[in-house]
Amino acid sequence: MQNFVRESHVPKTSKIRIYTDVDLSVDSVVELNAEQSHYLLTVMRLQSGDKLLVFNNRDGEFDCTLTPKNKKSVLLKINSKTRDFERVPDIWLMFAPLKKDRTDFVVEKATELGASRIVPVITRYTISDKIKIERWQAQTIEAAEQSRRVDLPQINEPIALFKLLENWDLHRRLYFMDETGTGKDIVTVFSSAPPPSALLIGPEGGFSERELNLLHSKSYACAVSLGKRILRAETAAVASLSCWQATCGDWKKE
Ligand code: SAH
Repeated sequence: MQNFVRESHVPKTSKIRIYTDVDLSVDSVVELNAEQSHYLLTVMRLQSGDKLLVFNNRDGEFDCTLTPKNKKSVLLKINSKTRDFERVPDIWLMFAPLKKDRTDFVVEKATELGASRIVPVITRYTISDKIKIERWQAQTIEAAEQSRRVDLPQINEPIALFKLLENWDLHRRLYFMDETGTGKDIVTVFSSAPPPSALLIGPEGGFSERELNLLHSKSYACAVSLGKRILRAETAAVASLSCWQATCGDWKKE
């Protein structure tokens, strides 16, 4: 049987990895909040002396040792820095929110696939449950912990498509997934789509004619086709972000 050599950035054992918002530096001791302490002690059953990884979206990632302060609170002694802080490439994922579980899926996958920002966009045919940004934030944290990101995607407040386009920063190219087939194929378009860029996916009902006309009229926007089949919005989100990372993002090795 062939032995595969592991890539250097993938650790051999997967240690528990958590996000905290406190400052982190080698040799300091940080106290976790009640919820995280409960998770480590009661859910994960960690004990005094156990090691874990911690990151805070600014200082990098650190190896630390757990010391319970009391039954409800945990201290982490920071031993060493395991990774420097780095941001994912500057790629925004903008999409019309969907029903709750489908939106959850997009937020989780956008984080795993390395979106720098997630933007809920309200379009004519958007039918969504109430948008709860705190819930999205919790989901991005969980997905970043699991996927070994050292940064978190930023999440915008929902914005109407017309407003978003009105205030667009011209340095950023906008690629909208156009199910009507007028766009170029994604490989051609992404042969030159460097960051900063943004991807836009419509709702289940698609973009309205007026929205498509408006998008087509913008000099900074470019229509993209994802082939002959009509994809669900969440599939289009994952497919377009994957293609971008593969061609213009950090899936490409130097
Ligand atoms: N109701 C529409 C489909 C909308 S699919 C219809 O029946 O025609 C939801 C969104 O996914 C679309 O607005 C588009 O942004 C994206 N999408 C789905 N399939 C696509 C494709 N083949 N090419 C480009 N974008 C696609």
